[in-house]
Amino acid sequence: MTSSDMEQAESELQDLREEVAETTKEIIKLVARRAELAKRIGEVKSKGSLPIDNEKVEDALLEDVLRECKRLGLDQQLGAKILATLVKDSKKTQRAQVGGKVQPLITPMVMMAKATEIEKSGKKLIRLDVGEPDFRPPKAVLDAVSNALYSYKTYYTVGRGIPELLSALKTYLAVRYNYREAAENQLIVTPGGRFAVYSALATVASEGDSVVVIEPNWPAYKEGLDYIGARAITIRTTMEEGWEPSPERVKAAIRPNTKAIILSYPANPTGKIMERGSFREIVEIADDHGLTVISDEIYNDYAYKGCPTILEKLPKRYILTSSFSKAWSMTGFRVGYSLAPAETSARMLKALGLMITCVPEFIQRGAVKALESVDEVSHNSRVMEERIDATTAELEKIGALELVKPEGAIYAFPQAKDPNFDSAAFAMELLEKKGVTISPGTGFGDYPRCFRLSLGQPQETLSAGVRKIGELLS
Ligand code: PMP
Repeated sequence: MTSSDMEQAESELQDLREEVAETTKEIIKLVARRAELAKRIGEVKSKGSLPIDNEKVEDALLEDVLRECKRLGLDQQLGAKILATLVKDSKKTQRAQVGGKVQPLITPMVMMAKATEIEKSGKKLIRLDVGEPDFRPPKAVLDAVSNALYSYKTYYTVGRGIPELLSALKTYLAVRYNYREAAENQLIVTPGGRFAVYSALATVASEGDSVVVIEPNWPAYKEGLDYIGARAITIRTTMEEGWEPSPERVKAAIRPNTKAIILSYPANPTGKIMERGSFREIVEIADDHGLTVISDEIYNDYAYKGCPTILEKLPKRYILTSSFSKAWSMTGFRVGYSLAPAETSARMLKALGLMITCVPEFIQRGAVKALESVDEVSHNSRVMEERIDATTAELEKIGALELVKPEGAIYAFPQAKDPNFDSAAFAMELLEKKGVTISPGTGFGDYPRCFRLSLGQPQETLSAGVRKIGELLS
């Protein structure tokens, strides 16, 4: 290369850099204009007491952006990511604008914190808010944890989990689900199902991506996606449709930036078990579109009709998450697990290693014994079925309510017949006047007429709670 070639290249580069700087300034000016518009939208919403989030509007905008990216030959993922940043900023501006007028969502975790605060003052409450069974953990688990502590199993372990637990999980999956293919590099022992779900979301989706979720559902799916900067595309099911999502709607919800779909049956809060045929169809649709199916099967042992599992026919991309919390009533132990293809599992493991190193070994030793405690699981499941039967019958007697009988899980999710029912206000009134805690339906999606009762209490307590609900509604 001659020195004049170099000079020419330098000058060309200089011109291009100037153009880049100009273009960047143009972009920033446009962003400032957009922020100004967001502020005005915030003012209008504040005046009209309108909600900040509007999934339909966001969805339409995303479609526009993706179409424009395609037309311009720009990477759609980049377009979606830029849009996500802009939308996040707009919402921040609008929230500041609307200020104190936004009612924070009362999720089960918020309700739990409130109730615990009241209980500290000595007041006795009927707690139907927390999704946690009242059963004792198996004695064998307590012995194993205690022995492990006194044998000083109190040091770090490898992140994935101790070999004894990984091996016990493999045997468990083979016996319980007839699934014999699980390899140790596909399994991870996690601190509860919650972490398994969060690391699954963080592994499959990044900022600007979207994930299909079926509502009503456990709030942590949407909250987790929000935290990551990804968007939930919601398929709203209704009580009138028996909470059944149609595969066609799932297919229609998929966008070019969609990375995954979350399924969880039996479902929290409805107790719905999806028809096996629909489940398979949805998994196939996901497979055809290259999506990961995240199947949260935490309530699988509380199923009162055949419940489909992802293990029956694994798609190419999948993450199964589960937990010891519900079936063995071990919520406070914080132990769960995930199963995914080795490469996905390695990425999830990275998150676990970075955040918590490992699940404590003495807890893992307890989990090994839990997997052998099948009688306790059957007992818990049987008792829960009786509670579902009894509580459904009692709720059906309340004229102001209607419900679809739960087919599994540990909840009831009745709906008020009054079209203007405000479950958040009702939950607060019920707490103040009757000392009963429930979780408003708005914590699980757009369900102001519904509320969730957790059946993790003895039947007498449940009946007393339902009676008080009936009194307040009469
Ligand atoms: N998935 C669902 C559907 C749940 O309802 C819960 C707990 N409420 C979890 C996962 C997480 O439970 P844990 O972290 O205790 O295993």
